[in-house]
Amino acid sequence: MEPIVKVKDLKKYFGDTKAVDGISFEILKGEIFGLIGPDGAGKTTVLRILAGLLKITSGIVKISDFYLPQDIAKIKENIGYMPQKFSLYTDLTVKENITFFSEIFQIEKKVFDERIVPLMKMTRLYPFMDRLTGNLSGGMKQKLALISTLIHRPKILILDEPTTGIDPVSRREFWEILQSIVVDGVTVITSTPYMDEAEWCSKVGLIFKGHILQIDTPKNFKKKFPFDVFEIETDDKEKIIKKLNEIKEVIDIRILGKKIRVIIKNKDIKEIFDNKTEAKKVKPIIEDIFITKIKSVY
Ligand code: ADP
Repeated sequence: MEPIVKVKDLKKYFGDTKAVDGISFEILKGEIFGLIGPDGAGKTTVLRILAGLLKITSGIVKISDFYLPQDIAKIKENIGYMPQKFSLYTDLTVKENITFFSEIFQIEKKVFDERIVPLMKMTRLYPFMDRLTGNLSGGMKQKLALISTLIHRPKILILDEPTTGIDPVSRREFWEILQSIVVDGVTVITSTPYMDEAEWCSKVGLIFKGHILQIDTPKNFKKKFPFDVFEIETDDKEKIIKKLNEIKEVIDIRILGKKIRVIIKNKDIKEIFDNKTEAKKVKPIIEDIFITKIKSVY
């Protein structure tokens, strides 16, 4: 299958700041592609470029059959873009806000009426149609922003950190909605600073300091991870950490409440500790992969 999005050696410099410094990826129709990385990694810059809002410094960006920058108008027709701070009118109702956005996209009233109810039902905002937007929760506002972006039926949906700052239940619900959108053939390109959200994506690009560290499916990330991860439960963290620090095979040590999470290379942690120390081998999570990638250990 020919990718719907192709990005090759993309660079975007703001003066001396290399916000994006040679990024390449391909996205297939119907995929959820997630750019995952901390603040300042370059996520917003990539997404704004794909939405046709920022000029590129160099590289190739192809979306459907169109290229940036020359086909920008055609590209914009295919795209729905939800920025991090999507502007909703707080003094308008939910329905009035959506109506406003449908007018921007010149959607006929009849078409609007057909589309709005399924979208409202899918996001469970239907009972809140007449509520003032200013009185919605953070999660509901994000869902409303999503509907406002979907009302013109874009082929490619670009969402910049849609789940940042909303509660865990709403986050989950938001990702479930995205799963149902791609079933209809829409392609989703999104970003998040939350490593655990990788699980919801069909393909993930780990991004850091303007570079992509690795692109893969969430499953493959874990399969290819070449180290072991252990969790040690202890009342004497200091002693354990001191001991771990002396071992050259230890790559990373993190404290998680009462537990210590250890990434280790080619060594069974049980050899290091006495039998009283409870060490459990656990599956790697994306954060483990990200940390070791940043440390350039593989
Ligand atoms: P993220 O979305 O991952 O937080 P951004 O793409 O917003 O990252 O930013 C990447 C880098 O580019 C940061 O160092 C940021 O300060 C810089 N940057 C982003 N936009 C601009 C701009 N308009 N002018 C100058 N620097 C910018």
